[in-house]
Amino acid sequence: MDRRNFFQGTAIAAVTGAVAGCAAPTGMQGSVRTPFAVSGTFIPVVGSDEMYPVRRIYCIGRNYEAHSREMGSDPTREPPFFFQKPTDAIQNVAVGSMPDHPYPPLTKNYHYEAELVACLGKGGRNIPIATALDHVWGYTLGLDMTRRDLQRAMGEEKKPWEIGKSFDRSAPIGPVHRVAQIGHFTQGAIWLKVNGQTKQSANLNQMIWSVAEQISKLSDAFEMFPGDIIYSGTPENVGPVVRGDVVEMHIDGLPNLSIKIV
Ligand code: MN
Repeated sequence: MDRRNFFQGTAIAAVTGAVAGCAAPTGMQGSVRTPFAVSGTFIPVVGSDEMYPVRRIYCIGRNYEAHSREMGSDPTREPPFFFQKPTDAIQNVAVGSMPDHPYPPLTKNYHYEAELVACLGKGGRNIPIATALDHVWGYTLGLDMTRRDLQRAMGEEKKPWEIGKSFDRSAPIGPVHRVAQIGHFTQGAIWLKVNGQTKQSANLNQMIWSVAEQISKLSDAFEMFPGDIIYSGTPENVGPVVRGDVVEMHIDGLPNLSIKIV
């Protein structure tokens, strides 16, 4: 199913009230004729044969104070801001595996950013902070991989970040753990190692804007839907990788995620 038909599918689902189907192109397939197939994006769900369908990938910028400072901002004055990655930037990383992650073209300064990812199961507009976490269906951990040199160059020219942030396979991600089984993540260690050496190490409770606040803020700007996932920001000490590096990240309560840069 192509993107145009995907959105048609969304409209049909809204009209029929089948809200749970909004983010899932499957089920709509077959009702629309297309000249070729375009695959949807899905993330495995732990302990289930169901897949989590990804509708949009939102990412918050500069959400840990020390990282904000290292990026040259003043975290005490900055309201939250968001960008998106394309859905097909997802690279699924199975628990216990270490898939190859191709070093992308154009960059000479390729950075890791370890992040908690919230996966929504319920949408809405103007969602209050107090009830925002009710919209989270599951959590996982992921890497917001970044062509830092391109991101910086575009930023300096006041141009969009896309080429630095929103490229192929820029979102390695672990399987989704259901909130019903694993609860919410408001604190706990988050760390990242390169070749066994600790690079990032912080606590989720150091986020400037909590996951609940992020959902609330996003829903003021966009109508949120099931299948929307949110990369909740990275702590300080982001840095480069080169071919051959092994990247491992951890969040307390989730299995570690590993990739090899090739
Ligand atoms: Mn990030």
